[in-house]
Amino acid sequence: MEPQPGHSGGPGLAEEGRAHSISPPPDGANGLRRLIPRDLVALQWCPTLLYFRRRGPSIGFAPRHYGPEERLEHEKLLEEARGELAGEHPRCRIVEEPLLDSPAFGVRGMPDLLLDCPGKCIVVEIKTRRAKHGLDKLQLAIYAELAQDTLCTRKQVQALLTAGGTREQIKPHRQSIAQLARRARKILRAHTPPPPTGRKPGACRACLFRNICPYAEERE
Ligand code: SF4
Repeated sequence: MEPQPGHSGGPGLAEEGRAHSISPPPDGANGLRRLIPRDLVALQWCPTLLYFRRRGPSIGFAPRHYGPEERLEHEKLLEEARGELAGEHPRCRIVEEPLLDSPAFGVRGMPDLLLDCPGKCIVVEIKTRRAKHGLDKLQLAIYAELAQDTLCTRKQVQALLTAGGTREQIKPHRQSIAQLARRARKILRAHTPPPPTGRKPGACRACLFRNICPYAEERE
C-alpha cells in the first residue's frame, strides 16, 4: 500500500501543510535515479504536482487518508486476497510486497502481491473501496512493466487490481514507464515548477499544495 500521490482525499499525494522552499534537484541515489510509481502517477495528474511532491518540503501524510481504519481494512483485504489467490493458483508462489527495482527505467516500486507461476507472473494491487481511483490502474500498469523488467523477464506478466470486492485485469498503459520517467526527470531538474499542462479537471480542489502553487485554480 504505497503512499498516494499529493491530494488529501482523491488520487493524490496525501500531504498536508504549507511548503516554504524548493529543494535542489534530487540527483542523489534516492533522488532522480530512483523514481517511484506514485511520482509517475502524480505526473499524469498534474506536472506541477510532481514538482512540488519531490522538490517541495516534506509535509507528511494526511491521517485522514492513511488512518488506522483504512490500514486495517487494507490488511484484511490483503489477507482475503492472498487466501483466494492461493486457492485459485496452487502452482504459484505468492510473494508479498516484492521490491521491483529497475535500473533500466530508474523506477522502483512494491506492489502488494506478486504471483510467480509457471510461465507467467501476476502482479496484484489491493485497494480499499475508499482509496480506489482511476489512476490506480496506471500505478498497477507501472508495476507490471517493472515486474517484466526485473523478476519476470522470461514470463508473461498480468496485472490484477482488486478493490471493493471486485477484480479487474489491467492492460498496459499507453505511455510506457520509460516515457513517463524521462518526462518526470526533465520536470524535476528544472528551476521552477512547470505549468500544469494536461491537468485533470478539478485537480486543484483537494491539492494540499494549492497554497503555494502559482497555478492553483481559484474557483472550481
Ligand atoms: S494546486 Fe493545482 S496546479 Fe497546483 S500542483 Fe496542485 S493540482 Fe497542480
